[in-house]
Amino acid sequence: MSELIKWYAELRQIYRFFKAAQGHLENTLGVSVCKQCGKCCHTNVLVREIEALLLVSETPPADLLKIGSICEGWLTQDNAKFTLYEGIPIAKAIDGKLREEWSSIIFDSHCPFHKEDNTCMVHDSRPLVCRAYGVTNTANNCTRPPGNGETSTQKACLGGKPAELLKNICDDFFKRLHDTGRGWTKSAFLPTLVYRHINPTDFYNLVDSGKIPSAKLVGSDTPLQIIWENQAIADRLGIPVEFVDEKMLRKAPAFSQVNLFHPPQIINAQHP
Ligand code: SF4
Ligand code: SF4
Repeated sequence: MSELIKWYAELRQIYRFFKAAQGHLENTLGVSVCKQCGKCCHTNVLVREIEALLLVSETPPADLLKIGSICEGWLTQDNAKFTLYEGIPIAKAIDGKLREEWSSIIFDSHCPFHKEDNTCMVHDSRPLVCRAYGVTNTANNCTRPPGNGETSTQKACLGGKPAELLKNICDDFFKRLHDTGRGWTKSAFLPTLVYRHINPTDFYNLVDSGKIPSAKLVGSDTPLQIIWENQAIADRLGIPVEFVDEKMLRKAPAFSQVNLFHPPQIINAQHP
């Protein structure tokens, strides 16, 4: 446990760096980088295990009950259009129909933590991908008003040395975390991982009784199937998973959109 606490402290520090980066960007642009329209929460985000663990550890027990029930609702409702691929081979796991269903969860649904008043239920513990949007990631579809030097369709994000520094910090953190071999850098949908940590027994019962479609489990470490990118490549090539290296991961076009093992992309953009 103490090892995990050390990683939590580092992750919280990274979250603080993102907040500072946001402040720096807002000073440069002269506008707030978010007007809380909620548009970017009309998607489901993939997060790393460590972020879901930290979110659960930071949430007071009374709120965990509510969050757990929201996640359970998301996992078990509106599933008519999704398929349960019990027992399909891992190598085919993210191809074809499952990939389509998985993509539709990302792009055609909304995060269950998004509230009607456009605020985030887990704002203080929200994952990096949410913190990076419009800060270290270009957010041209963002509805905020343009700042200094921007247009409504061309938004700036943090660039130059500050972005480089932040990227190096994130890369270093996730590399060291990955090297522990504990699986804390693996990714899956936010509510899937959060629910699994809040209520593992119920989670696995729902999986075993076929109540959660496979697309919502992609990337999650379930007894049903483990669909990690390197595991899938190992299966396809018929080699042990520890022989899968970065070169093979890069050469796997069928999985290129999944990027389960890579730290967040921090894109440099021109300062206005
Ligand atoms: S789209 Fe832009 S303004 Fe709207 S919530 Fe997202 S970051 Fe904020
Ligand atoms: S976690 Fe919060 S900020 Fe991130 S997508 Fe969900 S509602 Fe939006």
